[in-house]
Amino acid sequence: MAKISINLATGSFQKEEIIVGIDLGTTNSLVAFINPDKNPQVINDAGKGILVPSVVYFNGQNEAVVGNEAKEYLTTDPSNTIFSVKRLLGRSYKDVAEHKDIFSYKIIDDDSDALVKIYAGDRFYTPIELSGEILKELKARAEHALKTPVNRAVITVPAYFNDSQRQATRDAGKLAGLDVMRIVNEPTAASLAYGIGLDPSQQKTIAVYDLGGGTFDVSILQIQNGIFEVLATNGNTYLGGDDFDRAILNYWLEKNNLDVAVVAQDNILMQTLRLQAEAAKKALSTQNLYNEQVGEFWCTLDKQTFEQLISAKVEETITACKNALKDADLSASDIDEVILVGGSTRTPFVKQAVENFFGKKPQDNINPDEVVALGAAIQADVLAGNRSDILLLDVTPLSLGIETMGGLMDVIIARNSKVPTKAGRQYTTSIDGQVNMKISVYQGERDLVKENRKLAEFDLKGIPAMPAGLPKVDINFLLNADGILTVQAIELRSGVKQEIEITPSYGLSDDTVEKMLLDSIEHAKSDVEQRMLIEARSEGEQLLYTAERFIEKHAEHLTEGEISATKTHIEALRTALATQEKDTILKKADELNEFTRPFAERVMDAAISTAMKGKKIE
Ligand code: ADP
Ligand code: MG
Repeated sequence: MAKISINLATGSFQKEEIIVGIDLGTTNSLVAFINPDKNPQVINDAGKGILVPSVVYFNGQNEAVVGNEAKEYLTTDPSNTIFSVKRLLGRSYKDVAEHKDIFSYKIIDDDSDALVKIYAGDRFYTPIELSGEILKELKARAEHALKTPVNRAVITVPAYFNDSQRQATRDAGKLAGLDVMRIVNEPTAASLAYGIGLDPSQQKTIAVYDLGGGTFDVSILQIQNGIFEVLATNGNTYLGGDDFDRAILNYWLEKNNLDVAVVAQDNILMQTLRLQAEAAKKALSTQNLYNEQVGEFWCTLDKQTFEQLISAKVEETITACKNALKDADLSASDIDEVILVGGSTRTPFVKQAVENFFGKKPQDNINPDEVVALGAAIQADVLAGNRSDILLLDVTPLSLGIETMGGLMDVIIARNSKVPTKAGRQYTTSIDGQVNMKISVYQGERDLVKENRKLAEFDLKGIPAMPAGLPKVDINFLLNADGILTVQAIELRSGVKQEIEITPSYGLSDDTVEKMLLDSIEHAKSDVEQRMLIEARSEGEQLLYTAERFIEKHAEHLTEGEISATKTHIEALRTALATQEKDTILKKADELNEFTRPFAERVMDAAISTAMKGKKIE
């Protein structure tokens, strides 16, 4: 039964509950919905502002305060004021250790492989709980502004987020009491806000340039038949508007002959100057000079100097754009549309750099800090069934597969496969009577699993005892639209089944992805050689095993001479296996195979004729 309610805020009947779109940002978060005029609209609850700073403060009673109010404690109580929690979602300490200096609160580092925890107030919090607090605040604001319960949401994440980070985002939503209908890529949401992708007959290649407070990413998307495909993403998760503020701050310290080390001691002064720097930066988006006095210091900055201060950082973003195009196998002229996202793209110098690089004016009609939430609201509307269906398609950045004999990686879902996707392969046992099969799931491009990233491991138990090679084990990988992987193993003869859902124990940074890809290219040749050797060895060992069983079992059909000659071949193969030389192994395996083939046929014939006799055909 469909729920019918009256929305007091809009005065309209609502057949279905509203599904909101949420941009859960590193610096700022916000929520949007589709208004009765069918337009996406950001929520500004009781004039509290549209952007909710993604900051959580814990007061003495361990109560969470979120947003602008929390931001004020950054100076006065930094160890209990958590910012940038999005950087920690689905991450291990190991992933963030390199950048730990930017966090003024305590991140637990005792187990570097486990997901990070944060100590604030007098207890530990997971990044999921902290993001949950931000989402709770957004939900409350939406409910207050719309005067209706909000239980369902679409939440956006960067295109480079891995399974673990997506799952963590989903879990944060759950904690906030939200049913997360879909996790959507931020660049996809931004293009939807510009109406790109809403017309199924449209075919476009677009670039989404997103420069926020602390992160930068660029995504190349292809939109075809209403399907969004991420062709490539690139960026730097530690580059953003904060760097601009820091550059201004350092410039002022120098101009005022202040020692950085001395000012750094004075939290309040430091924070005041930092806020002043941000104000100067924002002002210079629309004017040419900024001039303010803080105490006895003059905070003066002209546009030209500002641009010099940030030009290296901006150049870095352009290099990332170049790399993204290269990965997508495209050139700037192939891009039909460039979209600007993130508050920092309000800086004219940034806009200009993007325009120069792509050779066309970027889209900037929609507020860059609202565009993602607006697009998420459109996606929510699509999911609510209010628009003709739009599919959202992403690609998986690294191959997924399982370990096979000799520690080889057997890829089941290849890198760059579109998700959702499903793939499977059949395996069998290598030893007679084997009743368990260990299934180890890996992610990566190398031929040897030990060079890849292990995601999970489980045992398929209870395979009925059968000769090696007879059981048929189907292994299926299902990667859903949120990038979450389900691995299922089923033995077809017995129906024994085992299934796991993968929530990797720790995250994977985009740097790691890049490194894994580069490593795989660098080691391609030696990897192939190793793979061939391992395959030859596995084949040789399997043959050794079968041949030994064969002469044991069928001795009555063989002559003494045949048996001893077979044994000589077996020993020759065993010696070859010890040499680690692929060609020798293959040669000896071949010889053994060739030598025993006639006996094998004879034994078969004998077996068949016995069976026929038994049947008594009349
Ligand atoms: P995120 O996606 O990382 O949460 P936002 O898209 O909200 O972040 O961007 C925040 C950044 O945008 C901050 O560094 C902020 O100073 C910067 N910013 C906001 N308004 C302007 C402006 N008018 N000019 C330049 N930078 C701005
Ligand atoms: Mg953002």
